[in-house]
Amino acid sequence: MAIDPLPPLREVIRTHDLVAKKQLGQNFLLDLNLTAKIARMAGDLSGSDVIEVGPGPGGLTRGLLAEGARRVLAIEKDARCLPALAEIADAYPGRLEVVNADALSYRPEGLTPPIRIVANLPYNVGTELLVRWLTPDVWPPFWESLTLMFQKEVAERIVAKPGSKAYGRLALLAQWRTDARLVMTLPPEAFTPPPKIHSAVVHLKRLDEPRFPANAATLSRITAMAFNQRRKMLRSSLKGLVPGVEDHLSAAGIDPTARAEEISLERFCALARQIDA
Ligand code: SAM
Repeated sequence: MAIDPLPPLREVIRTHDLVAKKQLGQNFLLDLNLTAKIARMAGDLSGSDVIEVGPGPGGLTRGLLAEGARRVLAIEKDARCLPALAEIADAYPGRLEVVNADALSYRPEGLTPPIRIVANLPYNVGTELLVRWLTPDVWPPFWESLTLMFQKEVAERIVAKPGSKAYGRLALLAQWRTDARLVMTLPPEAFTPPPKIHSAVVHLKRLDEPRFPANAATLSRITAMAFNQRRKMLRSSLKGLVPGVEDHLSAAGIDPTARAEEISLERFCALARQIDA
């Protein structure tokens, strides 16, 4: 069954001549049942304002609106997509605002909490935005949840646990301040044109307070040093951090001969507190 009265996306793409541009990471989702399913992963939309980054021809936008989002603010860099998005705005009066801007420099304003962010973005832009959304000056941030498509390998790094190859800075950053879950994987054929790799949707729900107390800058400095030389023992990779780092490691309950990938978030936070003390 159609999710809305608008034309199928293949027709929209033909009408507006939206040939996918590789440099903008344009791999479109054309199955509206799938985009509605992704929209449902974002949680209860009926009482939420949604920021969508990179709506393209509007498949996910239509999913968000059909699933009842109170209001959608869609930020799209490619002006060619604007006429197609204007048709969606007409079909949902007063609920869709489209901004032609680069999401890396545009600051959304005028939204009413709770605010959810949903995006199917090119990989490099997505990771950069994720890191920014996870590292605001004050916590909790302006958003309630992030529902983002990544290449599967990056999604696995976000939800990775200690002891796995994927475990590193991104996992610690995400899991320190959010509940992060990989909620869906998609094969290349789900997209037009198909990318070379599998993709996955990650849903991150913010915690009101970080999971364990720690200073954000100290934690970031420690994990950067520890994972830049992830095969080394921590007593060597963290040597330049502070004098007597072995004693600090022991006091934080960490074996100085352990490697970064074996250490839990809780222990990294304990080390950050120990060093700041
Ligand atoms: N959301 C659509 C979908 O699921 O079919 C399109 C997804 S496509 C992977 C990525 C979209 O992000 C494209 O429409 C592209 O033009 C847009 N985009 C790329 N870089 C952007 C940026 N820096 N700011 C805003 N939009 C961007």
